[in-house]
Amino acid sequence: MPKTVAIIGGGVGGLATANQLAKKGFKVTIYEKADQLGGRAGFKKQDGFTFDTGPSWYLMPGVFEKHFAQFDIDVTKELDVQRLTPGYKVFYEHHTPITISGSLEDDAKTFEKIEPGSGKALEAYVAASQEIYQMALRHFLYTDFTRKQSLLHPTIIRRARLLLTLLRTPLHKHVSHYVSHPALQQILEYPMVFLGTSPFDAPSMYSLMSALDFKEGVYYPKRGMYSIIDLLVSIGNRYGVTYHTDTEVLRIIHRGRKATSLLLASGESVTYDIIISNADIHFTETQLLAPEAQSYPEHTWQRRESGISAILMYLGVKGSLPQLEHHNLYFVKDWQRNFTEIYTDKQLPSTASLYVSRTSATDPSTAPKDHENIFVLVPLPTGLTLDQEALEALGSKYLEAFAIAANIPDLQKRIVSKSFFGPDEFRDRFYAWEGTALGMSHILKQSAFWRIQPRSKKLRNLYYVGANTMPGVGVPMCLISAEIVAKRIARKQGRSS
Ligand SMILES: Cc1cc2nc3c(=O)[nH]c(=O)nc-3n(C[C@H](O)[C@H](O)[C@H](O)COP(=O)(O)OP(=O)(O)OC[C@H]3O[C@@H](n4cnc5c(N)ncnc54)[C@H](O)[C@@H]3O)c2cc1C
Repeated sequence: MPKTVAIIGGGVGGLATANQLAKKGFKVTIYEKADQLGGRAGFKKQDGFTFDTGPSWYLMPGVFEKHFAQFDIDVTKELDVQRLTPGYKVFYEHHTPITISGSLEDDAKTFEKIEPGSGKALEAYVAASQEIYQMALRHFLYTDFTRKQSLLHPTIIRRARLLLTLLRTPLHKHVSHYVSHPALQQILEYPMVFLGTSPFDAPSMYSLMSALDFKEGVYYPKRGMYSIIDLLVSIGNRYGVTYHTDTEVLRIIHRGRKATSLLLASGESVTYDIIISNADIHFTETQLLAPEAQSYPEHTWQRRESGISAILMYLGVKGSLPQLEHHNLYFVKDWQRNFTEIYTDKQLPSTASLYVSRTSATDPSTAPKDHENIFVLVPLPTGLTLDQEALEALGSKYLEAFAIAANIPDLQKRIVSKSFFGPDEFRDRFYAWEGTALGMSHILKQSAFWRIQPRSKKLRNLYYVGANTMPGVGVPMCLISAEIVAKRIARKQGRSS
């Protein structure tokens, strides 16, 4: 009889783990509380506009290729993944816009015009970032660090001093050794927001992120990010994964050190050999498990950091927006204060850096004729409560600053369709700890081997997958997380091939 596996949650990590295990012969069932699979990587239609609800940057194409190749799929062809040129455009409160082309040679010239010497500095920074990225891919990302000897690889030993320095130095300090102009520093530091952390706290190990936008490139699948979810589900269908949407799990039941079954909201109890939670880890630990089965009870969460929450705005705009590229960033002048307000003071930012995606730049079918589709993400502190009226008022305030910087003074008047998603929605929709948008931040004590292990310490057949576990936040990271957890389960069950 094949071993049975239940997965709580149909986010990227849950869907990808299901595929990995089903291919190895396990009988897998996914229980998803929402009416749609994909979790944070969702999809919505609104007044003739279509939106990816969460992720919009397709980075680390090699991770996608390697993942889908296991299922004999050339993902680049299958999803018609194209490199975006330019990669993105940055608008400032305090500087003229800077466009990052994605060609390091051209971008070095752009830097050089702003700060003499910074062209060469950018090349050196990206070369160093690339070395770290390659090292991370080979030695740190695809492991749960259960095999300590993996850290004794000659490359790591040879570069140990560099790695230790990178772990101990905050990214902002590291960047300051290369460039001095605040606008350029911001370009090298903004990717920390993708990791739910601040460049003033994140270890400079994460300078590896600049190897992604400056060297590897920024990509986009032709039919949008949700096509990744469709592809994952089509693979699951091929291997017999069963999907139950609109099905909430209320409890994980255990006997001794074994998780035995799930209690569903319908009152039904379902029994499995192995249980994997792709739901928020804080929620899984403190709400789904009885106290004696919790590896991370409530009091341990005071020591953890929940990262960022966000206002998400889904906006349909009349007319065209030639001022914008597909990916656009807006950086405020008082960069450090913006991070301090979010991470330390936990108060609403007085002025807010933000991100704007104009999907219709690449895929006109996402908006009706003569309209554009924009998605706006404004990072906020976690732990807030904001009703829809407050969200809209705040969103409008922050968007206005962007509209001025982007020279689109009538942007707000042209909005013909809108919806907002904020901290309360992250809490209600995803049971996200403190309303976190991305999951636990990637500060040092929550990174690499210090991130949450993919297996319960109390129940021997309960596993975790997704952004809160190793290696961390982001769609490619969650695909890797799925590979890690599936490999661990298969190893234990003697089905490693
Ligand atoms: C606004 C935003 C923008 C982002 N941008 C990018 C980007 O550009 N590029 C990128 O790579 N990544 C991006 N990310 C990050 C990326 O989307 C996430 O890291 C990834 O999708 C998380 O997947 P996951 O496996 O952790 O599951 P999640 O997406 O967190 O899904 C978990 C699922 O579990 C379900 N669930 C929870 N509790 C229960 C229960 N009790 N019973 C049943 N089901 C339950 C939830 O409904 C949910 O569907 C972004 C995220 C957000 C929110």
